[in-house]
Amino acid sequence: MDLRLSHLINGQARSAGDGAWLDVFEPATGQVCGQCPDGTADDVAQAVEAAQRALPAWSALPAADRAAWMNRLADALEARVDDFAAAESRDVGKPLALARNLDIPRAVTNLRFFAAAATQFASESHGAPGIVNYTLRQPLGVVGIISPWNLPLYLFTWKFAPALAAGNCVVGKPSEVTPVTAWMLGELAREIGFPAGVFNIVQGRGAVVGQALVDHAQVKAVSFTGSTAVGVRIAESCARSLKKTSLELGGKNATLVFADAPRAKLLDTVVRSAFLNSGQICLCGSRLLVERKYYEEFRDALVARAQAMVVGDPNDAATHLGPVVSKVHFDKVMACIELARAEGGRVLCGGEAVQPEGRCRDGWFIAPTVIEGLGPSCRTNTEEIFGPVVTLQAFDTDEEALALANATPYGLSASVWTSDLSRAHRLAERIEAGVVWVNTWMNRDLRTPFGGVKQSGLGREGGWEALRFFTEAKNVTIDLG
Ligand code: NAD
Repeated sequence: MDLRLSHLINGQARSAGDGAWLDVFEPATGQVCGQCPDGTADDVAQAVEAAQRALPAWSALPAADRAAWMNRLADALEARVDDFAAAESRDVGKPLALARNLDIPRAVTNLRFFAAAATQFASESHGAPGIVNYTLRQPLGVVGIISPWNLPLYLFTWKFAPALAAGNCVVGKPSEVTPVTAWMLGELAREIGFPAGVFNIVQGRGAVVGQALVDHAQVKAVSFTGSTAVGVRIAESCARSLKKTSLELGGKNATLVFADAPRAKLLDTVVRSAFLNSGQICLCGSRLLVERKYYEEFRDALVARAQAMVVGDPNDAATHLGPVVSKVHFDKVMACIELARAEGGRVLCGGEAVQPEGRCRDGWFIAPTVIEGLGPSCRTNTEEIFGPVVTLQAFDTDEEALALANATPYGLSASVWTSDLSRAHRLAERIEAGVVWVNTWMNRDLRTPFGGVKQSGLGREGGWEALRFFTEAKNVTIDLG
């Protein structure tokens, strides 16, 4: 059945102001599965107005009351986890089990985590003889959040939960490529009677709805996750009105594998970090740097694992990789593989589209692809591909490994596999990334700072960092006389 989605504005479901719709595709079949409002700048203006009206009451609520609302929403979401997982899987093409075990539970956790954080957030006081300085942490007002298609509900909630917890009202724009679960969450909020206007969702295209949100004079901050190109554009727009920005952007993350790596979880984890969600996670390790004396053994084991992965229907429990998210993205990833060949890369496995039988024959599937023989400065090893494609490079020394790890314009995350603790600490200190994992990957504690350096972004999310971003610090100085 085709879905007709809506905005959530002032607690009401609305269509686009000019009645236009965008098609929503199911990547596993390549077919249209619904319509999403093609929102307008006027829709954004109405949402911001609603948020502005809701702000005095929401920001004045005791933190525990805001937390109670967020927990109610989390409970309602948890009660519908299977419906949401099915929708997320259909919208993104990710295996149902992944949506069921990772995406939707994490969205529930995001809400609960920041509900709890709201009740624990505190500010500083700086005493001096005869003087007291204390800091107020006040909500910013109406804030805009803009999220991408790869982890739709997971990242949408990761942004609006801290914004609400800190006492702001929100206008959110999910990706037009994957708008369904944000719409469903809006419907849930209506069902439980979440205070109208506190959070609003405007569906539509980035260049229209996203840009209008970024440019709106009453929007005090923009929290964005997406590509570096769009992030730069948002930073430029926000600079004109000095809006606060948090930018979580692209990555080209290195996985450093030393010959002394503890082997028990190594291959399972590296394969997961390479191909989870068809490689469409900003944290995926797409450049595998391997100590030369272990290179061939590791390469052969990796290729065997990649060849054994099942690419197919996301609904099938045996499937490891679903399709990539869209036809446009499929074409981009396939072009990247062609470019790797043109640059002299040897495709060891994959490198081609997959056409499953049955209902998925027209979906956008790509086989897990491993490429070797390319140096650090070629486009394949410096530009983000964001698909099931990894490259292998060999190194001899720690210094060489470090130079390779840092040889891209990006700096989101890295993982280092070694049994030598001193080496791990030394490298962690010098790798240019916001997150470094040692002998693990995507091991997340929501209290830790999350974000990237260089072209991977500006600012940090997570824990107090997020609550600090969504508040303004005001210093009050009292002379005790
Ligand atoms: P994208 O930049 O194309 O779109 C992201 C969002 O921005 C979408 O909602 C889109 O509609 C909106 N947008 C587009 N143009 C806009 C404009 N001019 N003004 C305002 N909003 C606009 O990214 P994508 O293709 O949806 O997502 C993939 C990218 O996201 C990859 O580069 C990936 O690395 C990155 N990503 C980063 C993180 C992180 O935490 N660093 C996490 C997930 C994804």
